[in-house]
Amino acid sequence: MNDLLSLKKAFLVEINAVSDITGLQQLRAKYTGRKGLITAQLKALSAVPPEERPLFGKAVNDLKVYVDQIMYRKDQSLKDAEQQKRLQAEKIDITLPGKPSLSGRFHPLNRVLQEIKDIFVSMGFGIEEGPEVELDYYNFEALNIPRHHPARDMQDTFYVSDDVVLRTHTSPVQVRVMEKQRPPLKIIAPGKVYRCDADISHTPMFHQVEGLMVDSGISFSDLKGLLELFVHSFFGKDTPVRFRPSYFPFTEPSAEVDIGCIFCSGKGCRVCKTTGWLEVMGCGMVNPKVFEMSGYEPDAFTGFAFGMGVERLTMLKYAIDDIRLFYENDLRFLRQF
Ligand SMILES: [Zn+2]
Repeated sequence: MNDLLSLKKAFLVEINAVSDITGLQQLRAKYTGRKGLITAQLKALSAVPPEERPLFGKAVNDLKVYVDQIMYRKDQSLKDAEQQKRLQAEKIDITLPGKPSLSGRFHPLNRVLQEIKDIFVSMGFGIEEGPEVELDYYNFEALNIPRHHPARDMQDTFYVSDDVVLRTHTSPVQVRVMEKQRPPLKIIAPGKVYRCDADISHTPMFHQVEGLMVDSGISFSDLKGLLELFVHSFFGKDTPVRFRPSYFPFTEPSAEVDIGCIFCSGKGCRVCKTTGWLEVMGCGMVNPKVFEMSGYEPDAFTGFAFGMGVERLTMLKYAIDDIRLFYENDLRFLRQF
């Protein structure tokens, strides 16, 4: 009986010193585990004289129940303390300023290109693509620009070999489409083009959108109506438009499309070189020779083509005065769009 009392006292001292779950587990093993001190007392019961056995047995059992209860309570309080500690560590200060999430955005050129596509698709045009590394034949000859034609000087060309170039315009896509399909045709061809040229308004690579419409009975007034509609959708419905005679080998007659200067409202400024007008694209009726080379009967069909520079339209739309800003990846510039 004295052993049990000193066992109880020792247990109480030790459990007070326990500060974590591991310590408690060790203590449990020491007292009530399979080889624990109290378990040993239960096993020793048989050595006790029979008349003392019931009393001693009860005392050992009481001690075991008591120790189990104390350990259960300790276990609960240790778990509570640990949870409190964890909550404290995970506490969120809702008064701190939030972290901004960085959202991506479209490059201004892609944004404008998408807008151009949307306008033409809404008018029933399909979108076609072609190779950027192109045969001389498609880039020049099939568009009525034979070798030694002076128009080749207008386009400073990157030659890959004698017969292969980086396309200088997206017009070769027209030819490729005409070779595959019969009229009626109504397509635009957006994409990258390349020319040996670099200054404040030119880069060696830039983007064009070329358009082509072919059917029987297409007239120059169809061309004017369509491009006026485009300009009014893109720059605003009150924008003045004029067609000025021009020359391209693949169209006849040809014209440049000008819009009233959006910077000075036509009064004349540095951007429009005091003319009050800005050139936005080239166009014209498809030259019958181009039809012939693509296998269309020039007597049966007429059509028009037009081409515009995406960089130029973006610069005009957003009043950007240096084309190189598009390719410098300066976030201060790009975040404005
Ligand atoms: Zn102006």
